[in-house]
Parts: sequence; structure tokens; C-alpha cells
Amino acid sequence: MANPVILSIDDDPAVSRAVARDLRRRYGDRYRVVRAASGADGLTALREIKLRGEQVAVLLADYRMPEMNGIEFLEAAMDLFPAARRVLLTAYADTDAAIDAINLVDLDHYLLKPWHPPEEKLYPVVDTLLQAWAASPDATATEIRVVGHRWSAPSFTVRDFLARNLVPFRWLLADDPEGVRLLAAAGATEADLPLVVTGEGKALVAPTEAELAGLAGLTVVPAADFYDLVVVGGGPAGLGAAVYGASEGLRTVLVERRATGGQAGQSSRIENYLGFPDGVSGAQLTDRARRQALKFGAELLSTREVVGLAEAGAARLLRFGDGTEIAAHTVVLATGVSYRVLDAPGLAEFTGQGVFYGSTATEAPSCAAQDVYIVGGANSAGQAAVHFARYAARVHLLIRGADLTASMSRYLIDQLDRIDNIVVHPHTVVAGGSGSGHLEQLTLCDTRSGETRTVDASWLFIFIGAEPRTEWLDGVLVRDRRGFVVTGPDLVTDGRRPAGWALSRDPYHLETSLPGVFAAGDVRAESVKRVASAVGEGAMAVSLVHRYLEAQ
Ligand SMILES: Cc1cc2nc3c(=O)[nH]c(=O)nc-3n(C[C@H](O)[C@H](O)[C@H](O)COP(=O)(O)OP(=O)(O)OC[C@H]3O[C@@H](n4cnc5c(N)ncnc54)[C@H](O)[C@@H]3O)c2cc1C
Repeated sequence: MANPVILSIDDDPAVSRAVARDLRRRYGDRYRVVRAASGADGLTALREIKLRGEQVAVLLADYRMPEMNGIEFLEAAMDLFPAARRVLLTAYADTDAAIDAINLVDLDHYLLKPWHPPEEKLYPVVDTLLQAWAASPDATATEIRVVGHRWSAPSFTVRDFLARNLVPFRWLLADDPEGVRLLAAAGATEADLPLVVTGEGKALVAPTEAELAGLAGLTVVPAADFYDLVVVGGGPAGLGAAVYGASEGLRTVLVERRATGGQAGQSSRIENYLGFPDGVSGAQLTDRARRQALKFGAELLSTREVVGLAEAGAARLLRFGDGTEIAAHTVVLATGVSYRVLDAPGLAEFTGQGVFYGSTATEAPSCAAQDVYIVGGANSAGQAAVHFARYAARVHLLIRGADLTASMSRYLIDQLDRIDNIVVHPHTVVAGGSGSGHLEQLTLCDTRSGETRTVDASWLFIFIGAEPRTEWLDGVLVRDRRGFVVTGPDLVTDGRRPAGWALSRDPYHLETSLPGVFAAGDVRAESVKRVASAVGEGAMAVSLVHRYLEAQ
């Protein structure tokens, strides 16, 4: 395999030579340093590198270049190599543009020119970026190929899992010539699909998520059996708790049943999270949060579902689905919520075969030039409509109410209004679905007249509210009637503390009815369902963990 590339691009030949010389001096033995004289040349070089199947680790682009400036170049380069780390070279006068680029192209760093001496100004930055890149799935896994059927739920599950864990892969249909070749080479048949083949040539037939996690270099087994803090759930609240816990010296492990990022990880664009004026995709936010948690020493376990919580003296025991356990002084529950299932005849059998819950980034390109149906009137449905409208012929947003004003943010309603191929259908619900092998028709019902009509539809994305899946906490913690975990002052009624509470103090603000166990984010009763509040509660839970530990 060829060495990964560091690409530098500057229209000034003297500067371009100097950057490349400094980079080669330090990294030339492990990386191939490529230079280009314009944005267009840089993109041509990147396309060739892509076709050769090579990797790009870092992109350094000068800001001021004629025709295509450095930010425009980095934006285009992201489409080819999304995991490459991005640096903008700027003059002091351009720092405002560089700061804007932090949001626009998810810039990792901006370097002020001149960068001499490189030992002080250039190498520390590039070292850190190369370390981050080297730890990413892009660097560890050479290209993973997934061979499957378009309308197969297990094939969809594999692709969705890899995409949510930010593992790059190539999707091949079983009748694609390369798909046929790979099946033959692996000695598999179409009945065995999906087939996953690693860059090293290892083939896995219909792998489990734990096998996929191992293949992608994700951690699945805890390094210890006792921690200061176990965080359950890897959404914004859990990642927030892991970052604060680990950075404040607690031995912290985060346990996630599927992929870090939670609901937020599925968002195509979060527009209202503080500090990202141009919005940030859930995948980018998750990638940054993961790296931050790992940097501080938190352990992140994937594909491990927690199914039991118990008290054992001062310790709290957490049981995994396979019966193994870990223990800790304290626990933060950040298990969020999951989509409610749409209960209309005929839909259940097509889940993953045309019927999808939540936004599935992997599916959007497959919807090209077709009609897409989305159910739901909240922000998550609106974001999905905007996202799918880039690919689909038309996006039909089905809502029960008369309009979106009561359920969606104004900025999103305005965005939908501006997009010609989005049609909002008020007073409309899905009454059923049918098809052969995958969804082919939907029956829609007008809630005012009761009239039904059948439309051809292969794609249905459902966003109809969510509920906490906390049955495993039954009898262990106080939950409200919908299953949300009750915390803090809400546990005290008429001055009475919850049953079994043995301490002489009231529960702390985010503490559950079991001392030392806290809840943060969407799973908490009366919580605000937002990314910012989930992150904030994760951080706050850690400060209460410290208070709890000090009093022990
Ligand atoms: C498509 C979409 C778009 C959104 N857009 C916005 C937006 O623009 N702005 C905004 O502020 N909010 C937005 N939201 C809401 C926001 O994403 C949520 O409020 C936020 O993600 C809640 O974070 P959380 O960590 O509490 O829970 P979640 O994000 O739900 O994460 C919980 C995690 O816990 C894991 N888990 C659950 N049970 C277990 C278990 N037993 N063992 C191990 N792991 C478990 C789950 O797999 C999941 O990864 C959006 C939501 C969606 C779905």
C-alpha cells in the first residue's frame, strides 16, 4: 500500500516549494508530500489519488489564491476525502476568513504565515493532525467493501452501522461485476449476503455488529472491570459526560449499544448548536466529540448494550446483554430515546426494505430522481426533507396537522418553503403499505374526509416522535409513566424522598432514585430535547458525580 498523502497547495511557487520542503524533511519517510499550484490542480491530484485507492491524511491550503480560494478548495476536497485533516494557511489580515472556515469546512487549524521555525509552528500542528488521522478508521481500515441487495434489511443494517460509526466503505450490488467477483472469491452465494470484505481480503458473511465493530477497529471489550464512572449511551449527553469525566481525572468508560452520536449523529445539519453559525452535521459533531473524549483518556465501547443495573454496596453494577458485568462508583445514564414505530398495516415487514426510521444518510443517494415520503412534522423530519430534496425528484412531507407552525422551527419552515421539490401534505397519515420484496405502494388517508388514495412509493422515512427504552430499569429506578427517568427535586413529593432512599440528603439535581446514578439528556423526565441541553446535562452530571464521590 502506498504511503498516505499530505497535499499542500499554494499559488506562490516560492511558498509552495518551502512548505513542501519542510513537510518532506519531517514526514517524507512515512507520507508522500504532493504539491499543487491552484485549487483546480489540487482537485485533479486528489481525484487521481482517489482512483488509485490511496489515502489523504492532511490538506494544507493557502487562503488567498485566484479563482478558487483555500476555503472553496477545502470544501470541494471534503467530498473526496472527508476524513483528511484540514489546515488553512493565512496571512494575519485574513484571520476572520479563517475563523469562518472553522465552521464552513470543519477546519482543524489555521496557520499564520510565515510558519518559521517549523519545529515550533508547523510540526506540532501537523503531528497532532496526523495522530488524529492515523487513529481514524480511514487510516486503520483500508477500503472495506460491502456486497448486498438493495432491498435487503440485513444489507441495510450493515451499511447503516458502518456509516454511523464513520467507517468508510464501498457499497456494491450483488449483480455488479465486482460484487459478483467478490462473491466468487469468497466462495459465497447470493443467499449468504451481505458479504463484507476488508482491505486485507478478509471476508465475513452476514457479520454481526460486534464482528463489524472489531473489523473497523472499534473497542468492544472494557479494559478494566471497575471504573470511577460508567456512562451508558453515546449520544451528545453521554459524550459530554465522557469528555468532562475523563478530562477531570475520572476513570471513565462509555458504553454504546450501536454507534456513538445517538440521534444527533443522524442529523444532516444541526443549525442551532452554539458555536456553529453555519450549522454542523451530526457526523462531524460526533467525530469531534469522540476524538475529544479519547484524547482525554475515556474508553469508548461500541456494540455493547447495557441490560441491567444493580446496587452492590457502594458499587454500581452494569450487566451487558451477554451476561458479563462492569462495576463503578458512579453511573450516568444517557440512553436518550428511540423512534416510535408507525403502526400501519403492511409497514413492519418492509423495515429496512423501503421503510426506514430516522434519517439514514446512506440511503439518500439511492433515492436519486425518485419520490420520497417523509412522515412527521418536527425539526428532524424537516431536516430530512431538506437533505433528501438534494437527491430525490420530489419529497412529500406528510403531516397530521394543518401546517408546520406548531411543531417545527421557523428557520426550517422557511427553508422548506424555498425548496421547489418539497411538497407538504397537511391532514395526511399513512394508512398502509404494500409491495413484493420491498415497499412499492403507500396508502395515504386524509384525516378530515377519511378518503384514501394509493401512491407508488419505494421510500418512506418515519419521524413520529420517540420514547425512552428503559424497561431494563424497571424496579431499579423511579421512572414516569412514559418511562423517562425521574431525577432530583422531582423525586421528592410533599417533602418525602423516594422509597428506599437511605441518605440524609435529598437527591442531587440530576441524581436518580439510586444514589450515585445520574441521568442526563433526553432519557431524563422533563428534559429539553436538544443537543445543547443534552451536552450541558452530561457536563453537569459529572460535577454532581464529584460531589457524590467527595461525600462518600
Ligand atoms: C434527525 C434528528 C435531528 C435533530 N436535530 C436537532 C437539531 O437540529 N438541534 C437540536 O438541538 N436537537 C436536534 N435533535 C434532537 C437531539 O439530537 C437530541 O435531543 C439529542 O441527541 C439527545 O441526546 P442524548 O445523548 O440524550 O440521547 P441520544 O442522542 O438519543 O443518544 C442515546 C444513545 O444511547 C444509546 N443507548 C440507548 N440505550 C442503551 C443501552 N441500554 N446500552 C447502551 N447504549 C444505549 C443509543 O444507541 C444512543 O446512541 C435531532 C434529533 C434527530 C433524531
